[in-house]
Amino acid sequence: AKYVYDFTEGNRNQKDLLGGKGANLAEMTNLGLPVPPGFTITSEACRHYLTEGSVPEGLDQEVAGQLEALEARMGRKLGQAGDPLLVSVRSGAKFSMPGMMETVLNIGLNDESVHGLAKQAGGNDRFAWDSYRRLIQMFGKTVLGIDGDLFERALDTLKGRRQDTDLDAGELQGLVETYKGIVREQTGKDFPADPREQMRLAVMAVFDSWNAPRAVLYRRQERIPADLGTAVNIMAMVFGNYGDDSGTGVAFTRDPGTGQQGIYGDYLQNAQGEDVVAGIRNTVPLQELQSIDRHSYDELLRIMEVLENHYRDLCDIEFTIERGKLWMLQTRVGKRTAAAAFRIATQLVDQGLITMDEAVTRVTGDQLAQLMFPRFDAGAPKRKIAKGMNASPGAAVGKAVFSSERAVELAGQGEDVILVRRETNPDDLAGMIAARGILTSRGGKTSHAAVVARGMGKTCVCGAEELEVHTGERRFAAPGGVMVSEGDVISIDGMTGEIYLGEVPVVDSAVVEYFEGASEPGDDLVRAVDRLMRHADGARRLGIRANADTPEDAARARRFGGEGIGLCRTEHMFLGERRQLVEDLVLATTDEARQAALDALEPLQKADFIGIFQAMEGAPVTIRLIDPPLHEFLPDIVDLSVKAATETATDKDRRLLAAVKRLHEQNPMLGLRGVRLGLVIPGLFAMQVRAIAQAAKEVPRARPEIMIPLVAAVQELEAVREESLRILAETGVQALVGTMIEVPRAALTAGQIAEAAEFFSFGTNDLTQMVWGFSRDDVEAAFFSRYLDLGIFGVSPFESLDEEGVGRLVKIAVEEGRAARPDLHLGICGEHGGDPASIHFCHDVGLDYVSCSPFRIPVARLEAGRAAL
Ligand code: PEP
Ligand code: MG
Repeated sequence: AKYVYDFTEGNRNQKDLLGGKGANLAEMTNLGLPVPPGFTITSEACRHYLTEGSVPEGLDQEVAGQLEALEARMGRKLGQAGDPLLVSVRSGAKFSMPGMMETVLNIGLNDESVHGLAKQAGGNDRFAWDSYRRLIQMFGKTVLGIDGDLFERALDTLKGRRQDTDLDAGELQGLVETYKGIVREQTGKDFPADPREQMRLAVMAVFDSWNAPRAVLYRRQERIPADLGTAVNIMAMVFGNYGDDSGTGVAFTRDPGTGQQGIYGDYLQNAQGEDVVAGIRNTVPLQELQSIDRHSYDELLRIMEVLENHYRDLCDIEFTIERGKLWMLQTRVGKRTAAAAFRIATQLVDQGLITMDEAVTRVTGDQLAQLMFPRFDAGAPKRKIAKGMNASPGAAVGKAVFSSERAVELAGQGEDVILVRRETNPDDLAGMIAARGILTSRGGKTSHAAVVARGMGKTCVCGAEELEVHTGERRFAAPGGVMVSEGDVISIDGMTGEIYLGEVPVVDSAVVEYFEGASEPGDDLVRAVDRLMRHADGARRLGIRANADTPEDAARARRFGGEGIGLCRTEHMFLGERRQLVEDLVLATTDEARQAALDALEPLQKADFIGIFQAMEGAPVTIRLIDPPLHEFLPDIVDLSVKAATETATDKDRRLLAAVKRLHEQNPMLGLRGVRLGLVIPGLFAMQVRAIAQAAKEVPRARPEIMIPLVAAVQELEAVREESLRILAETGVQALVGTMIEVPRAALTAGQIAEAAEFFSFGTNDLTQMVWGFSRDDVEAAFFSRYLDLGIFGVSPFESLDEEGVGRLVKIAVEEGRAARPDLHLGICGEHGGDPASIHFCHDVGLDYVSCSPFRIPVARLEAGRAAL
């Protein structure tokens, strides 16, 4: 195998092999853009290293060969004393994982070559020593595993109240000695002076960083597979820290927060790349580069246009200016907020760069879900204490906390928290996940906090410089003498950047109001959503139904674009005061008593169904006959035992206890429920079917469908079906009669079952439970986080459909069911019906519709459209 590719050899489609960074560096190189030369070690080499514990055969020779070619091209040798070539070693996985993995710059420096570097720089000693101390610092932390604070502290002590740029060459040379001492002290060895050894160790450190805890956590959060590995990019160094004619920055071709077109980014003079992201010094807005270095600015704008037209999307860019010459260090199709995604997709259509079909695939259901978040009530009284940058939208309210650990701890106790930091770094990830929102006092919209929060869809306000954050004392000061301590409630608006003291009430989003039909598509975001939703609706093949069991939910489902109800859980109608009636029914010992209970329930059920049929205005309503285990309707056996043992216990109490004991089950979810209950309690299902039929008679255009739960054998279904058809015939009402497929045996005998069913609806909650043998009520809390850690699955199978196992059964049932009954109608009503990946699966296996909660309907419409495109 070939493990190393020169930048001229790859292209943007090779992200699997070269990682995102490597593939795009190759693409830019081939576009003729100014990219420093270099090469990429493949993620395949990394995977080999991670699984085998050693680099693959031949890798060292290949790297040596590529390095020689690079040296020949640059006319310098790596780390050569008089005239050194320096390189950077950067991670770059298939999916971007900002700041999660390692980077080492300035490789090739040692006590000799530092002088050569100074000479190259025209006698700029300060620059050379600054580069050297950066190498030891970065290498020490990432490759040698030394606590980074040790270096930071040494730097801080030296700086005092000055900035790092104020340190002179002599001071920096002293710092290098201090750093070397730290290395010796911490590792018992000298800092490795051999440039090739530096490079080799750095490559392995990048490989290893794939499994750093924060990277593991990030992947789990972002659902990135754990076994991809990272590529490693080795590139000739260009220097942004030469002096004021140099610098480094990041740029976006459009505003990743709002999608607005314009010049957008941050620039930092006399600095190296890591300084920008780390928020060491405050950056200036990119526009200011125009007055700092007009030529580079114009060149950057030109390149941004080339990239946008080439990628036909928003790109983000890392660049460095070395003594007036612009270099591209990275580009990629940039992350953006949900609102920006919708706006940009339609802008690109209007610019003629993409089609509407493509535009729909550029936005996701998850992004749409984010736009449906509430925002702060504009009319409510609020006390604004400061304003930062609107880094990631949303409205977050919670108690201020000042460390990641504390955020995790309080969130674990069910508290809403806002993580407040001066700036965040990858070690804060756990706290960022736990928090409702993130607030920082430093760093721009491209700072770590902003980038990560946007990726997670979490509210973030960053760079609120008016705030003085004292993390040690767990408080921050705002202008006007306001002091906020840990536990005080604050509200942050990720849309405007505003920060408020206390709790600000939140209201529905404009997008939800539009779905509700309460507003016309007024602002440009809602217009973009409207356009894309219409197009998705036109493209999708899947129908969208709702899981709803009240007229209110049914009406919302209609407004949100639901085309029917796919699951009306009738047991939800037996709660509250009706519970007693069900208890009477279950415990009845005589036919009379049972009939009396049924007679009492029937009119109530009928009224329920009338309400739902009316709300659905002629759209189909799949009503599932009662399903859940008996114990849900009976008094708790422990409470009852305690009560029956007291002096005041009545005969009735004791009789009730005896009955409950008789019906008690060890595994209720595998017990007397669903169709089994219907067959055991005579008259129960018949009463429900009669109520459905009677209700349908009273509502013009009502379209009931009767669904039998938990069927495992066709014989069960046949018995209930016969009785149901008789009742329907008696009342003169037409209704489909079908079944859920939620027991593995039903899926495996779908051909037989289809003979007695006009439709199937996959109940993937129970199907998942029974296929995996996982109790759906218990296991997620019990051990799923461990399973996720171990990579046994990347996401809970209750959240996203397990295609290999559960999905295989679904496929079998679809094929064999349709073979037996070609017009069999097929849907899904488990939680997976609202999950984007599962919706794509449902499309692929040829279901007719998905059914999900009313609020997920827009997401399902969009994803069904995307699946079809
Ligand atoms: C299912 O099992 O997927 C289903 C929809 O039914 P319930 O969740 O009510 O068991
Ligand atoms: Mg079920």
